[in-house]
Amino acid sequence: MKNDSVFVYSPDLLGYKFSDTHPFNQLRVQLAYELLKDSGCLNDDQIVTPRKATDDEIMLIHDKGYVDAVRKAGEGQLKGEIALNYGLGTEDTPIFPNMHEASSWIVGATLTAVDWVMEGKAKHALSLSGGLHHGFRGKASGFCIYNDSSIAIEYMKQKYNARVLYVDTDAHHGDGVQWAFYDDPDVCTLSIHETGRYLFPGTGSIHEKGAGKGYGFSFNVPVDAFTEDESFLECYEKSLWEVAEFFKPDVIITQNGVDAHYYDPLTHLSVTMKTYTEIPRIAKEVAEKYCGGRWIATGGGGYDIWRVVPRAWSYLWCVMNGLAPSGQIAENWLERWTNEAKHPLPQTWEDESGIYKPIPRKDEITSKNRATLEKSLYSIRKSS
Ligand SMILES: [Zn+2]
Repeated sequence: MKNDSVFVYSPDLLGYKFSDTHPFNQLRVQLAYELLKDSGCLNDDQIVTPRKATDDEIMLIHDKGYVDAVRKAGEGQLKGEIALNYGLGTEDTPIFPNMHEASSWIVGATLTAVDWVMEGKAKHALSLSGGLHHGFRGKASGFCIYNDSSIAIEYMKQKYNARVLYVDTDAHHGDGVQWAFYDDPDVCTLSIHETGRYLFPGTGSIHEKGAGKGYGFSFNVPVDAFTEDESFLECYEKSLWEVAEFFKPDVIITQNGVDAHYYDPLTHLSVTMKTYTEIPRIAKEVAEKYCGGRWIATGGGGYDIWRVVPRAWSYLWCVMNGLAPSGQIAENWLERWTNEAKHPLPQTWEDESGIYKPIPRKDEITSKNRATLEKSLYSIRKSS
């Protein structure tokens, strides 16, 4: 094998931009890329350039009418009320020029990652611009236009005849991917997220187990607001190992949104960088045990683009490659971005201790999450 891991990247992936003020900001991908380069953790021979996905590939998941609408919207040719039927032109998912092309690059990047892994040219591949898990077959939702993860899964099924385990640790429920494969027993979805009680998209309860032949292949672990590292990781680690043992996948695709971090402005969880070193470590181990190492990782949510995303996504790549950066962040990266950053940039890879005040409900939240985990894994625990 030529490469253990490949990093899919090109500036074409940065064109997915709603506006200057929208919380979804792909500058974060560039920030992570540069942090890795400046830290000496990413070599040129590990970088592969993506291709653009074709319309046929996008239509593995999305309806033709929707793809046509996205293209027209990006050309300024779609009327407002028709656009809204497709979830386009909303506050969450505004229309922007050439949105079809920008989204096709992201899908192509995740498919590039898939091909490198499934053709055996690399064990692991990372597509940081991907992970747009809220996109539906015929509708944009929650900052997501085309669902690159769903397309990648269907592509792996058709081209490589693979049984795919999708693991989503974004703070928001991975609804688009879950619903796309809800009745499919060859795709298993696992999402660990903040409960939908107060958070978009509101779904992801333990009772969403799949339908028809796919019943029992959809798993959700909705954790309470203010969940901290230990409890989040307990839910993630136990559910991932047990679901992998139950499903025995050929390949794992992970959605590595990093918006569960305490600093994230859109969610209410309280995890730190510790969680973002552990998540990839365990994913890698599970892929090694069940899938011959085959693991494709994508990005996802992450709205503190200065203090959280660059470090968390750099860790993802580093752990994938057996590296463990610690201590001082690269000086030249800090110098380059300090004046642009909206917050003082963290000086170290680790979060300082005490970034938030301890809360009295911690034990109660941990017990509640444990009970949720127990219920969401009940179907596989009782049969083993
Ligand atoms: Zn999210």
